Amino acid sequence: MIKKILIANRGEIAVRIARACNEMGIKSAAIYTDADRYSLHVTKADENYNIGPDSVAGYLNVSRIVDLAVSTGCDALHPGYGFLSENPALAEQCALRGIKFIGPDAKVIRQMGDKIKAREAMIAAKIPVVPGTEGNLESLEDAKAFAKKIGYPVMLKATNGGGGRGIRLCKDESELGYNFDRVRSEVSKAFGSADIFMEKAIVNPRHIEVQILADSRGNIIHLYERDCSIQRRHQKLIEIAPSPQLTQKQREYIGDLAVRAAKAVGYQNAGTVEFLMSDDDQFYFMEMNTRLQVEHPVSETITGIDIVQEQIRIAAGKKLSVKQQDIHTRGIAIEFRINAEDPRNDFLPSFGRISRYFAAGGPGVRTDGAIYTGYHIPPYYDSMCVKLIVWALSWPELIARSKRALKDIEVHGVKTTIPYHMQILNSKEFAGAHFDTSFVESHPELTEYSIKQNKGEIAAAVGAAIAAHLQL
Ligand code: ADP
Ligand code: ADP
Ligand code: MG
Repeated sequence: MIKKILIANRGEIAVRIARACNEMGIKSAAIYTDADRYSLHVTKADENYNIGPDSVAGYLNVSRIVDLAVSTGCDALHPGYGFLSENPALAEQCALRGIKFIGPDAKVIRQMGDKIKAREAMIAAKIPVVPGTEGNLESLEDAKAFAKKIGYPVMLKATNGGGGRGIRLCKDESELGYNFDRVRSEVSKAFGSADIFMEKAIVNPRHIEVQILADSRGNIIHLYERDCSIQRRHQKLIEIAPSPQLTQKQREYIGDLAVRAAKAVGYQNAGTVEFLMSDDDQFYFMEMNTRLQVEHPVSETITGIDIVQEQIRIAAGKKLSVKQQDIHTRGIAIEFRINAEDPRNDFLPSFGRISRYFAAGGPGVRTDGAIYTGYHIPPYYDSMCVKLIVWALSWPELIARSKRALKDIEVHGVKTTIPYHMQILNSKEFAGAHFDTSFVESHPELTEYSIKQNKGEIAAAVGAAIAAHLQL
């Protein structure tokens, strides 16, 4: 069995992985940049190693991180999400140096990381894909001709993209002309390759994805689906498992489809197959994420399966601990991404000191976070600072409990998306379980709200004003 894992990540996901190691009796080693000296993941792991002053580049340095894993006696490495998690070079380096990479092999990461190759593999496996180009777009003329063929609206997308970036809707030929070079330059800056392709834009779709687990002995299972339709700028804000918008029949269909997709590429470890569901209830493969996902806790909550622990067992060569027929879901779970951003100011990142943090608790509530009272959120990283996960037996109970939990959690000192999530819960459409990926954009009024300040905050503000006055 694996004895010590290097966690090649930071923040809440590094804390999450350290917790899994702890429960399994496996030692964990954290890495941290100078900017992350006081980050929670540093103290939650058994060992920690400084990787220097480069706030972002430090977590992206493959050879340095693998060297560190070797020299500190780790026998496995978990990449988390973001950073190097979908970088085939890391998986390759680990394999060369005798470190078990907790994820699929480099070949599959490379294949699925290229959305054109992923689509080809799915077409070959007879999985329905969003209609789109067979290869990359060579020129604007090429793009215009193809758009004419499939019909507007169309989507321009980064072939090597991720994190919702490099995706642009074009409603007509003039928008396509306007966007073409812009997307190419944006994409080449973000992903180091200017490759883009085109898909038919599915109008007001729902984003439905399936969590799968595959071991090295050919066993593949799914943990049902997540509905991630509540997004802003193609980035998820809220995720729900199972989707309140699917019938049992659709649920089974999509689960089988995801398992077939994973089988077709010889997948191993945890992965997610993402689909778009059109308004006439057709499902189309969109992409596969070859890593642990931000929203994995909602699937854990309804199935009772610890996905990170399964990942570690799979990497150690063990059999999946459950069979498909042993997986039963109970109730419904929702995750709110609490970002240090100001929804009333175009979701501008809000970094700085957390003057007070109180984690929500009570029945059916889980908080996965990396903040504490006194912590300074550094400006270099993702603005997501806590994930609030709520579970209940039914959708109406889930809404009520979520409101309670969002009132319960307290994050002071920075602006957060907490009040915005409350606005969403109060909307009739959401409560009625009818929403698609256009929800956020079509409800700009939800960003208009006032915040009741609590007594502590008011007292602190009054104190600061008096002090400033005395200094004058
Ligand atoms: P999930 O697909 O797990 O919901 P996200 O799409 O929100 O996750 O991505 C998780 C994290 O990884 C985010 O911090 C996101 O910005 C980052 N990320 C994902 N894919 C890429 C990529 N290809 N390049 C850079 N960052 C990425
Ligand atoms: P990423 O790798 O950045 O996660 P995805 O291909 O998963 O990119 O797309 C992210 C989001 O963009 C989807 O969840 C969906 O909301 C939107 N999207 C992507 N492709 C399409 C499409 N063809 N039609 C409609 N919406 C799309
Ligand atoms: Mg995606």
